[in-house]
Amino acid sequence: MIVSFVAEFKSLPLAALVERSRTASAAAVRASLGRSRLSLEDFAHLISPAGAELLEPLSQRSQQMTRQRFGKVIRLFAPLYLSNECINACPYCGFSRGNPILRVTLTRDEVRREARALLEQGFRNILLVAGEHPKFVSAAYLADCVGLLHEEVPSLSLEIGPLETEDYRPIVRAGAEGLVVYQETYDRAVYAAMHTAGPKRDFAWRMETPERAYAAGFRRIGIGALYGLGDWRLEAISVAAHAGYLLRNCWKAQLTISLPRLRPCAGEFQPLTHLSDRELVRAVGLRPSPDVP
Ligand code: SF4
Repeated sequence: MIVSFVAEFKSLPLAALVERSRTASAAAVRASLGRSRLSLEDFAHLISPAGAELLEPLSQRSQQMTRQRFGKVIRLFAPLYLSNECINACPYCGFSRGNPILRVTLTRDEVRREARALLEQGFRNILLVAGEHPKFVSAAYLADCVGLLHEEVPSLSLEIGPLETEDYRPIVRAGAEGLVVYQETYDRAVYAAMHTAGPKRDFAWRMETPERAYAAGFRRIGIGALYGLGDWRLEAISVAAHAGYLLRNCWKAQLTISLPRLRPCAGEFQPLTHLSDRELVRAVGLRPSPDVP
């Protein structure tokens, strides 16, 4: 039996942590910043409104820890979209099964051609991305794609619909290193409202995916949330708790945390897409970067 984050997540005092984050004082933020090991409470302080006033010391601490662990290394990767077929209905995604778009699944030759185009541009890490569709995007198809690229591409990861551990094993044997799975939102009510059809309705099954991937032998596990769906503080605290759990329990694998790229998509879902990029980054609680027009 796979031990998973689901039980720990159920017992997290999320409402209290979110409240703590909303109301933390500048003194509490400073105290958290000074600790060598941060608790979830400390993390809640750092993303508080008071923390926004201390961004400079916060980023210096972050830079120091990043350099200590990774040096001056930045890993760049490029996504390679294998298929936009999907049996799930996610109103925030253009691949959602009800959207009347042209559906394409790349042939093996097309996959090889796309990968070579990325290699020619200098990419050495490729993320194979696909919707969830057992017929068009089967485990065998995915293992084939990984197998045919393995010799040429130094590092291959996947962002695909969740699979059973036994289905992951041939993909790992074919040469895949990493698996990314966004929980999308850690707010169960929002999750239920956003995922009304298809296997993705099962919140816990999705949440247990990193442990199944780890059991199958993936050496890099990625998690993430879409910060536009629920309260972003709840999402960020949940991601931090999830990361902490995986670091303790899946310690042989590297952990990555993904941030979403929010862009307009096909479909009827319009809570954010009518906004300009500048309004969008504000809406999800981020500071606009200078290059956002
Ligand atoms: S499961 Fe993934 S690919 Fe499919 S509609 Fe939802 S977000 Fe899009």
